[in-house]
Amino acid sequence: MRAFTYERAHSPREAAAAAARTSEAKFIAGGTNLLDLMKLEIETPAHLVDVNGLSLDKIEATQEGGLRIGALVRNTDLAADARVRRDYGLLSRALLAGASGQLRNKATTAGNLLQRTRCPYFYDTNQPCNKREPGSGCAAIGGFSRQHAVIGSSDACIATHPSDMAIAMRALDATVETVKPDGATRSIPIADLYRLPGDTPQFETNLSTGELITAVVLPKPVGGKQIYRKVRDRASYAFALVSVGAIVQRDGTGRVALGGVAHKPWRVEAAEAEMPRGARAVTAKLLAGAKPTQQNSFKLALAERTLDAMLAEAKG
Ligand code: SF4
Repeated sequence: MRAFTYERAHSPREAAAAAARTSEAKFIAGGTNLLDLMKLEIETPAHLVDVNGLSLDKIEATQEGGLRIGALVRNTDLAADARVRRDYGLLSRALLAGASGQLRNKATTAGNLLQRTRCPYFYDTNQPCNKREPGSGCAAIGGFSRQHAVIGSSDACIATHPSDMAIAMRALDATVETVKPDGATRSIPIADLYRLPGDTPQFETNLSTGELITAVVLPKPVGGKQIYRKVRDRASYAFALVSVGAIVQRDGTGRVALGGVAHKPWRVEAAEAEMPRGARAVTAKLLAGAKPTQQNSFKLALAERTLDAMLAEAKG
């Protein structure tokens, strides 16, 4: 691990300013992804800004009838919150499908959104990887690509986003609240938070330098049957081959977001108009233009069948 300097921030604005002031600075909260990356020298921050002391660990009702989830709320606490379990079951189920109990106890809401891909070549510093070392190439293209993206990828990167929670947040139309180094705040719809890889896969979000996520806001509950189904190689502690987060209303309308298929949570609102016609019609639009590799083309059929089973479950 490379040497780094460290400070504890006392306010969100101070944390953002500290991260912007020092080049190659990173925020640290739960550290469940960052510390591993630092030990492997994939992430080599010169300075860590510890945000654990900030009072961002509350879940509060909003005036609009939704919930404001502090950036430091631990995944375990968020999944167990009675309001989340009652009104946002999709979120609770997605959280419990991720990682392990020990990791969920440490991992935070903002950290979960910002975790890095689990592409094995990203973690192997002997391999070329445009995300880790821009311009070096992509070992996954032409390599072992069973876990990789089937849509929204580029010639530079075919990695997937690993978060289960982000899939639920996308289906629930969450908004991310941030503070910038100058103290300005903004709200970013989660649909606009993530970037596709394009020619610059090293940039994964539209956050600016030093910008700190302070909360994630859920709009008022939309009801419906909320299901999260994660298909993976083993029953626990594995990343999704395909995951599907769905909200199905009594009349058959609803929302669908996919995980394990793209560089970001994958949702195409226009495809949801097809929900009353069934899974095949939805996935035909949702995955239109997909470019799978030979090794992961099975994900297209898997997504359709998973959604089909979920729609049947929702109908009872
Ligand atoms: Fe790196 Fe992306 Fe290629 Fe994986 S898929 S090796 S993360 S550039």
